[in-house]
Amino acid sequence: MRIAQNIAAISSKLPGHVQLVAVSKHQPVLSIAEAYAAGHRHFGENRVQELVEKSKSLPADIKWHMIGHLQTNKVKLVLPIAYLIHSVDRLSLLDEINAQAAKRQKPARVLLQVHIANEETKFGFEANEMSALVGAAAAGKWPALMIVGLMGMATNTEDRFQVEKEFKELNSLYQQLKIENAPSEWWQPTELSMGMSSDYETAVACGSTCVRVGSAIFGSPLP
Ligand SMILES: *Cc1c(COP(=O)(O)O)cnc(C)c1O
Repeated sequence: MRIAQNIAAISSKLPGHVQLVAVSKHQPVLSIAEAYAAGHRHFGENRVQELVEKSKSLPADIKWHMIGHLQTNKVKLVLPIAYLIHSVDRLSLLDEINAQAAKRQKPARVLLQVHIANEETKFGFEANEMSALVGAAAAGKWPALMIVGLMGMATNTEDRFQVEKEFKELNSLYQQLKIENAPSEWWQPTELSMGMSSDYETAVACGSTCVRVGSAIFGSPLP
């Protein structure tokens, strides 16, 4: 029961309002089943094919979080499964999720991914585009989307100060957007998704409401 113990140990360090998403990417269904048996329900995947396969063989009350870069042509497959899409990182993806959610007549719950890392490689909108973007969204530009907050990934570095600085910046952006835009049908900000195995405690101290933890629960994924 190593997985269940890891979840219990991490949960005990999280304030009650912080959601722990167990990132089960590259992990076998049996490992997810072990966490499920211990009562855990929120799991994160970053590949569409894996999400689809795993959701078929696991209980229907699992809340699946799509956390990885999403190709527009895979949106159709993800919408019926995902409880929340964290990784909405570009306009074409917003448009496609909106179009597919409209077809299903079911609003899609999403987070907007913001590029906060000091690295070229991470996806996301730039912080300085967010005011205009959320303003338009909150006014109903994407009528089939429900934006419930922001997501960000800090720089992969040992430098705690750098990581802390990035998380604080994302939190202040989030607070600013909440002040600028009253909640509407399309903008219902409750989630700030930040923090992974190496930095979730820092993220929580900086205002995270949702941590995405993989290797600290399941061990390192198989290559
Ligand atoms: C893999 C992944 C995580 C979890 O990473 P760990 O370091 O294993 O906790 C969190 N968020 C995203 C977007 C990921 O791809």
